[in-house]
Amino acid sequence: MQLNSTLVVGGGVIGLLGALELARAGEPVLLLERADVGLESSWAGGGIVSPLYPWRYDAAVGALARWSQDFYPKLAHRLLATTEIDPEVHVTGLYWLDLQDELDALGWAGQGAYQVRRVALEMVREAVPPLGGGFTSAIHMAAIANVRNPRLLKALRAALTAMSNVTLLERTEVQGFLCDGERVAGVLVPSGEIRSERVVLSAGAWSGRLLATLGLQLPVEPVKGQMILYKCEPDFLPAIVLAKGRYAIPRKDGHILVGSTLEHVGFDKTPTEEALASLKASAEELLPALADAEVVGHWAGLRPGSPDGIPFIGEVPQFPGLWLNCGHYRNGLVLAPASCELLKNLMLGEAPIVDPAPYAPAGRLGLV
Ligand SMILES: Cc1cc2nc3c(=O)[nH]c(=O)nc-3n(C[C@H](O)[C@H](O)[C@H](O)COP(=O)(O)OP(=O)(O)OC[C@H]3O[C@@H](n4cnc5c(N)ncnc54)[C@H](O)[C@@H]3O)c2cc1C
Repeated sequence: MQLNSTLVVGGGVIGLLGALELARAGEPVLLLERADVGLESSWAGGGIVSPLYPWRYDAAVGALARWSQDFYPKLAHRLLATTEIDPEVHVTGLYWLDLQDELDALGWAGQGAYQVRRVALEMVREAVPPLGGGFTSAIHMAAIANVRNPRLLKALRAALTAMSNVTLLERTEVQGFLCDGERVAGVLVPSGEIRSERVVLSAGAWSGRLLATLGLQLPVEPVKGQMILYKCEPDFLPAIVLAKGRYAIPRKDGHILVGSTLEHVGFDKTPTEEALASLKASAEELLPALADAEVVGHWAGLRPGSPDGIPFIGEVPQFPGLWLNCGHYRNGLVLAPASCELLKNLMLGEAPIVDPAPYAPAGRLGLV
């Protein structure tokens, strides 16, 4: 490994895209993943390219989301051109039904097609014929897309393996950090040490475990989310619909994802019968025809939960050479492009795409 290099820990969407952006800028990059890349939260998620309720989030989350939303079509196009894998960025719009804080949503400063508009229910029924009865109000955001996240991850892996300045090491667990005094100078793996000039920690819900080896407490906790999957005709559901915190997302080929639960149960990601029944009930309330459809998949993932969902992006002041890009909670798929671009900006001394202050680790880490 060349010393003038960046070592990325974790191969979810954040680690993969972070590695890709650094490598595209000419940096030699080594990515270490303890299993195979792209099998954890980034695979399990729904892929909505928006926070679920954007008006409820801090401006820091909104700033990253907006940048990413503009970038996603370009990213998908670039990945399709270089890897022949289509991440399927599918613009369907999103309807929120019977929202408690509709006035807050309508007063929120979305821009252009990302503005929230109230719509008559008859219009929603025309646009989404399988919608269930009993809803009384709706708002709409036309520009929201969903990305087929498992394909995005495959495309990212393929793009990285095609680059001569990238090394991807799967089935290699990082166990700790290698320090020269206070400077982080690499990582410890079962076979020994790997030195590098910089280390980026993007190990999702597991990031806190690794930072604890340096005596630092990172407030990132696993938050389990379960999803179920149906297969319908491709034109069954034309838009994302959301009510009472549960949503249905249409993929282009007729798969419908329904999610999700929010469970604080540590690192256990076993799917449960209780969640299956609850998600089916939500699915059938939103789209009654799903009562006759088969559930073809049911899984759980561990979101990297952080306070207010604001990710940690930047260098750890106590340990120069160690950078964080983690804690994206419910929004890691939508926030990934901006988070990885910002990390690259900060590392390479470029002008940052957004004010980096809210994401800086300084002052946000405790002691173990
Ligand atoms: C049910 C559900 C629905 C979701 N829906 C959406 C959505 O619609 N839109 C959205 O934007 N977000 C959504 N999310 C959130 C999103 O999936 C996450 O925020 C995002 O995937 C986090 O990405 P990550 O790369 O940080 O973590 P992960 O994808 O979990 O990747 C972390 C990687 O690090 C590896 N790793 C861990 N420890 C080590 C180690 N010691 N050494 C080496 N490798 C290690 C892991 O094996 C893993 O591959 C959802 C999540 C869930 C669970």
